[in-house]
Amino acid sequence: MLTVHAVNAFKDNYIWLIQAENSRKVLIVDPGHAEPVFEALKQMTLTPAAILITHHHADHIGGVEALLDHYQVPVFGPATKQIPAVTHPLKQTHALQVDPDFPLFQVMETPGHTPEHICYLLENKLFCGDTLFAGGCGKLLGGSAEQLFLSLQQLKQLPAETEVYCAHEYTEANLRFASVVEPDNRTLQERRQQVREMREAGQPTVPSLMADELATNPFLRTHLHHIKTAAEMYSGMTLNSDKAVFATLRNWKDNF
Ligand SMILES: [Zn+2]
Repeated sequence: MLTVHAVNAFKDNYIWLIQAENSRKVLIVDPGHAEPVFEALKQMTLTPAAILITHHHADHIGGVEALLDHYQVPVFGPATKQIPAVTHPLKQTHALQVDPDFPLFQVMETPGHTPEHICYLLENKLFCGDTLFAGGCGKLLGGSAEQLFLSLQQLKQLPAETEVYCAHEYTEANLRFASVVEPDNRTLQERRQQVREMREAGQPTVPSLMADELATNPFLRTHLHHIKTAAEMYSGMTLNSDKAVFATLRNWKDNF
């Protein structure tokens, strides 16, 4: 079993440290800032085995160079010129070996938030950067609505017990929007209350469970009639596909 440690960075980013079983080695996911990572490694006496990158935004890669100055580790990430530090460019695969202490992991190409975005699946843990969020999804910052829709359809197929480690604490705001789209979803109202209490207690709401995302995240529920109706009411247009419903929801959230 892997253990995952959350490192807080900036206002609401999570940098994830994935620790191997019976080992001090960790994989560092999306180190946007090096300082809090150095501190966490020191505090828990952990040693980096590799860095994993999901996409090129500065709040996900800004700390890579400073970490490499201290630790000579491989950097895995999407193949793009925008992340020059990547030593091992990745494509969709089912069995990637990063380090002998870690299980094989799966790489999923998930364009949409950005064109090159990838996600990592280790055991039942999904590291999905800014593609799927607890209660929401990433903005379109370079990719298309169709790409992000298809990427989320791919993630939706993962088992319900999959743990979703996204890169930001956006859950409360996401669920506020979800409640406007689906005011009658009781599971959503319960989750919202739970999340509110967790935030008041200063706890992270990430990871979430895929089962909860499937039940309450409107961006994974575009096939439902009442969500289509809500999106049509918002846009004043007839929406003829799940993809069109998704694009409308994304636009609605951007203006929410
Ligand atoms: Zn991003």
